[in-house]
Amino acid sequence: MSAAILVLNAGSSSLKFSLFLQDEKMLEKNSLSLLFGGQLEGLYTAPHFKAKNANGAVLAEKHWEQGESLGHDGAIMYLKEFLRENSGGHTLLAVGHRVVHGGSRYTAPVKLTNAVVDELEKLCPLAPLHQPHNLKLIHLLLESNPALLQVACFDTAFHHEQSDVVRAFALPESITSKGVLRYGFHGLSYEYIASVLPEMAPDIAKKRVVVLHLGNGVSLCGIHNGKSIATTMGFSTLDGLVMGSRCGSLDPGVILYLLDELKMDARAIEKLLYQQSGLLGVSEISSDMRELLESDDAKAKFAVELFIYRIVREVGSLAAAMGGVDALVFTAGIGENSPVIRERVCEALTWLGASMWVIPTNEELMIARHTANLLERV
Ligand code: ADP
Repeated sequence: MSAAILVLNAGSSSLKFSLFLQDEKMLEKNSLSLLFGGQLEGLYTAPHFKAKNANGAVLAEKHWEQGESLGHDGAIMYLKEFLRENSGGHTLLAVGHRVVHGGSRYTAPVKLTNAVVDELEKLCPLAPLHQPHNLKLIHLLLESNPALLQVACFDTAFHHEQSDVVRAFALPESITSKGVLRYGFHGLSYEYIASVLPEMAPDIAKKRVVVLHLGNGVSLCGIHNGKSIATTMGFSTLDGLVMGSRCGSLDPGVILYLLDELKMDARAIEKLLYQQSGLLGVSEISSDMRELLESDDAKAKFAVELFIYRIVREVGSLAAAMGGVDALVFTAGIGENSPVIRERVCEALTWLGASMWVIPTNEELMIARHTANLLERV
């Protein structure tokens, strides 16, 4: 029997989970293996549970009625029951959570206590669409299983060593001192890629690499010698590139126009920028890259063109920040699975003379490794 580590990623209406097993005799990080993973979606509308084993075969699936609500508390209760029945008697040692924001204070994974959660609550205004949901689940588990080790792993942490000038906005200190700076996100994905480069691509591991994380969320990170030099997301997960339904970089003057001329309020603008823009907004068809690539519609083609153009521009910016680029590493849903997008990006960047790699990301494994490392220390 093995020790198990549960990885949780709670969103506003979903809960993703993965259960990793750790060989107790070999505690080094590479001894973790996935037993199963899955998600509960539509927690407040029409819940749907699906779990798959490490080979992708469906282990269990359940649909609730339209209009039924499980909520986050119902989801965690359902998952606990599923774990009890399916984890084959393995002992759950710890839970690792993905937490979007660690602010300037939490620059490494941390053991969760009520006091730490109180500190992380203060960061909710910096990530209002993600942080509260991450913390809600942590609260629930701290209450129901106080003895269980819980660890928070932050999407911002990998970028914390970037220099002050990289992180600064040109705003008065009265505002920047409140924490208004570029944090960067997708850090667990970038950290995972950086961690496997020495083994998978030793020639470039110490060199200047741009990792292209192209999923529903999209960002780039310039990494030199394993460290984050600069990244395209900033204060929020809106900045940078065209995403599934997020706009990416926007002239701040546009926000003033939306407020003053179109009389939109903050919530309407938030909805526009996070949920109605990006590939979805431009194409008016879908946020899903597969659908756009299959479509003959002119708007779908334009959305894809804009997606690629913005990536190419931002790779150029990171190349300037690092004084050159030796390799491009594509990862996440689009980066791993779409040769068309990779080819078009690489074609436009031939002048860089960089090598091209595709490396699947694994944020869950990164969280499990961090959790296992912390487990050893407590
Ligand atoms: P998330 O950010 O939600 O984790 P993923 O990393 O799973 O998202 O990426 C989702 C995106 O990947 C979607 O736009 C989807 O269309 C795209 N994608 C997945 N497979 C392919 C493929 N074969 N070709 C093009 N795009 C793909």
